[in-house]
Amino acid sequence: MTQSIDTIAIVGAGLAGAKAAETLRSEGYDGRVVLIGDEPERPYERPPLSKEYLRGESGEAPHVHDDGFYDEHSIELMCSTRVTGIDAGFQELMLEGDQRLGYDRLLLTPGAVPRRLDVPGARLEGIHYLRTLADSQRIAERIDAGQRLVVVGAGWIGSEIAASAREKGCEVTIVEVASLPLERVLGPELGQFYLDLHRDHGVEFLPETSVERFEGGDAIERVSTRDGGSLDADFVVVGIGVAPRTGLLENSGIRIDNGIVVDEHLQTNLPNVFAAGDAANARHPFYRRHLRLEHWDNALHQGPAAARNMLGAREAYDRIPYFFSDQYDAGMEYVGHATDWDEAVIRGDTSAGEFVAFWLNDGRVVAGLNLNVWDVNDQIRDLIRSRQRVDSRELTNPQIPISRLQDLGSMEAIGAWASEGGSS
Ligand SMILES: Cc1cc2nc3c(=O)[nH]c(=O)nc-3n(C[C@H](O)[C@H](O)[C@H](O)COP(=O)(O)OP(=O)(O)OC[C@H]3O[C@@H](n4cnc5c(N)ncnc54)[C@H](O)[C@@H]3O)c2cc1C
Repeated sequence: MTQSIDTIAIVGAGLAGAKAAETLRSEGYDGRVVLIGDEPERPYERPPLSKEYLRGESGEAPHVHDDGFYDEHSIELMCSTRVTGIDAGFQELMLEGDQRLGYDRLLLTPGAVPRRLDVPGARLEGIHYLRTLADSQRIAERIDAGQRLVVVGAGWIGSEIAASAREKGCEVTIVEVASLPLERVLGPELGQFYLDLHRDHGVEFLPETSVERFEGGDAIERVSTRDGGSLDADFVVVGIGVAPRTGLLENSGIRIDNGIVVDEHLQTNLPNVFAAGDAANARHPFYRRHLRLEHWDNALHQGPAAARNMLGAREAYDRIPYFFSDQYDAGMEYVGHATDWDEAVIRGDTSAGEFVAFWLNDGRVVAGLNLNVWDVNDQIRDLIRSRQRVDSRELTNPQIPISRLQDLGSMEAIGAWASEGGSS
């Protein structure tokens, strides 16, 4: 370990930052660790904020660590403290209130912020966005009051909020520019599955339209849509995506392009500055290009990898992307990264609510989604990593274990496997 690292500063006390601080200590680093976040809370996990925490099922806030953890590990956690800029030449952070903090290594984990909808009436009371614990608590109060909700955007967050609000008995309408929920990521087949799921639970889905304006006195009363519709609403949640939080890096000399640009070691263009989590646009060795991922799993693993690299490990971060979502009784995991594909196939029956979907490019699996089917995710990940061509008939055949597909390059091999008795 390099002995000259006196202070490691981490900007952003979310999941990536908190796990990085934990890793510095578990790796034996005994210098100063300062974890700075602008929220009043100690670090917490965000996925429950649209699910069980929003529905009031979990009670406790989903903190990453116990209350005493940071003191016990001599991690200086500075809450409610905003970093306003970086003086990379002097290796100093500028903090709100004209304070400065010197660092030898800097990890940037500032996460992302919701994109705002800029239409007339956007500032009316009752229009919400969901990123923080406080946002979730405010939306939960509305849901608990059983009010009429319009959700703008049927991405992951919008879809999960709609499901949670519906489960709690709210009237819910979703307004979406695409023709199906989650269509951009999952394509039409799975988009149709999620549309049916929401409609079966009584959600009204308005496709191919968007918000023209919000109307009301001081508070929201109606949402006017571009196709001439008018929806009564007691509250609105807008979920139209997030943008990386890179404002503090202006004039720092750190390269920004769709987030903080880092190499496969999670290092920026400045040698002592690293980045991880939602804000990092990292070179991915497997995909041979940069990826900025807004997933819990990425923050969980990239933060620690950056921490090890700050201590000199030179570890390439090449984890295959993974995320999960829970809506009503449909729990799903997605592994891989598919922005385009030439074939999508399904093993199982979508109408039974238990299936595995695969996306292929040139006969190779590039992503897989298991819905209410468990313990197959690692197998799909291995299949993606193998880059092996697979026959789509094999993929859709539930008799062939997914773990065998990697070995089965041809139909003859399947025949051999079947004649062995077909057991995995
Ligand atoms: C409601 C919700 C549900 C989600 N559900 C899922 C899910 O089901 N599955 C999944 O895979 N992913 C999910 N995600 C995504 C996942 O939570 C994120 O990918 C993860 O939180 C990213 O962690 P991070 O540490 O990079 O950023 P964050 O968690 O955003 O943490 C960054 C922290 O840095 C602080 N900060 C930023 N700038 C400054 C500054 N200048 N000074 C001081 N502090 C600063 C921020 O306030 C924040 O506290 C969900 C996200 C949300 C919001």
